[in-house]
Amino acid sequence: MTNKKVGIMGGSFNPIHHGHLVVANEVLNIYNFDEIIFVPAGIPPHKNGLKTNPWDRYMMVQIATVSNDRFTVSDIEIKRTGKSYTLDTLIQFREMYPDTEFYFITGMDAVIDLPNWHEPDKLLKLCKFIAVSRPGIDKDVIENKIKEIKDTLNGHIELMQVPMLQISSTDIRERIKNGISAKYLLPETVEQYIIKNKLYR
Ligand code: ATP
Ligand code: MG
Repeated sequence: MTNKKVGIMGGSFNPIHHGHLVVANEVLNIYNFDEIIFVPAGIPPHKNGLKTNPWDRYMMVQIATVSNDRFTVSDIEIKRTGKSYTLDTLIQFREMYPDTEFYFITGMDAVIDLPNWHEPDKLLKLCKFIAVSRPGIDKDVIENKIKEIKDTLNGHIELMQVPMLQISSTDIRERIKNGISAKYLLPETVEQYIIKNKLYR
């Protein structure tokens, strides 16, 4: 018997912004999760051109989520040494939270990449997926791709429309690098953390 429902929001959160927070809150409203766990990915700073210290990304997620008592943050992937896979995270969470049903939340841009994740068929047996709308994504193309993924990997993926915010971490990093204001795209306290710690310069 499952008596808890938990959403997992994975990402690099480099930095976290209002796009992420609106998605999490909308999903929380509809699914009435007991908790949404934000899981900053354990990408080492030298990988993918990400020069940000993983603990800075983690701290920014903590700061951004303080005002919501159903938002929590996990350092499970950041603490992990070596390669870090979502599958391992799900296995660990299922041990930590027995009798819990897990939903992994992604944008529609991220979900179509699922076949390239580590052992996606196993992952899809451990959790359901919720794929939310994101600007710049062609809905028809995505729906076809998702149908394909569902058929080949035999997984459960639900689509959900959320208020669309054209915000990305890439754009925020670019702005800060070029001295252009990123105000109102992300929580003010996160912006202050970025300035104080001289990130993305
Ligand atoms: P980057 O530009 O560095 O890739 P990002 O803004 O895409 O950053 P991520 O940390 O890669 O942020 O995203 C984590 C998850 O949140 C992904 O599943 C992504 O699809 C989703 N997401 C991010 N921004 C939005 C947005 N504005 N609307 C809907 N979903 C989003
Ligand atoms: Mg992204």
